[in-house]
Amino acid sequence: MTAKPIPLAGVIGNPISHSKSPRLFRHWLRTYDIAGHYVPLHVAERDLADVIRTLPRMGFVGINVTIPHKVAVMEIADLVTDRATLIGAANTVIFRKDGKIHADNTDGYGFIANLRAGAPGWRPDVGPAAVLGAGGAARAVIASLLDVGVPQILLSNRTRPKAEALQAEFGRRIKVVDWVQAGNMFEDSATVVNTTSLGMEGQPELRVPLDGLQRGAVVTDLVYAPLRTRLLQVADEAGCVTVDGLGMLLHQAVPGFERWFGVRPEVDVDTRAAVLA
Ligand code: NAP
Repeated sequence: MTAKPIPLAGVIGNPISHSKSPRLFRHWLRTYDIAGHYVPLHVAERDLADVIRTLPRMGFVGINVTIPHKVAVMEIADLVTDRATLIGAANTVIFRKDGKIHADNTDGYGFIANLRAGAPGWRPDVGPAAVLGAGGAARAVIASLLDVGVPQILLSNRTRPKAEALQAEFGRRIKVVDWVQAGNMFEDSATVVNTTSLGMEGQPELRVPLDGLQRGAVVTDLVYAPLRTRLLQVADEAGCVTVDGLGMLLHQAVPGFERWFGVRPEVDVDTRAAVLA
């Protein structure tokens, strides 16, 4: 009788020591009493294709992918989902039993799942969403907001041409606002999202004027270190419903864990505590 192999998964990046994913996956593996392992893999760009093609032969069922490999991994994959193609990056790779390498992006799913969990009354269709930033994370946020029916996205980025490129790609529901006028977007917005790295530990503070935030608007920040950013603090004081960015990180991991280990994990207070410990 041959023993069933123990499934292996991990997160691949460069650098990787800062990643919270090993702590998250190990918490779920313990919680659901699953015989499996999840490891951080530090891989240089030049080795990426070799490593990815070798991992299934070592018992890996899949991997999460982080900076700087999120785009390159799509070229290595045999199949890329529509949502990964739309976002232009992949963060979840599945090694299928038929040998095919399947690349997906769950960041948009994680973003929306976090908003729905943190602001249960959130209705995407009640009004425009204001999005700050036009980097990699903004693409997932914009694609998913449009997908769930936000009528308009007011988009502002320090480097305006990057916002205009997203407008050209995602279409007429995007309206670009100059960075110096970003604060004006909030007066009309039912949803507000910071996708810039401003406000993150070690980065400059987000200095966009916030006095236009509307009571009752749902405000979220992708930055989760610190958990309560200045944006979220000011939004709380203005009577907004605030949702921190840690939940996005946790929710985006759910589809991969379910696929690799066969259980759909809960994102709950214990999950947050395990990752923050
Ligand atoms: P990115 O592609 O490097 O984009 C960075 C964004 O921040 C760009 O819009 C950039 O504007 C803006 N920015 C940086 N410094 C700025 C400054 N001094 N003034 C004005 N704007 C500035 O990074 P990313 O991958 O999109 O990530 C953005 C943030 O989201 C990071 O803090 C990351 O940790 C966080 N994130 C969180 C999650 C989660 O699960 N919660 C998931 C993904 C990302 P320019 O275009 O003008 O440079």
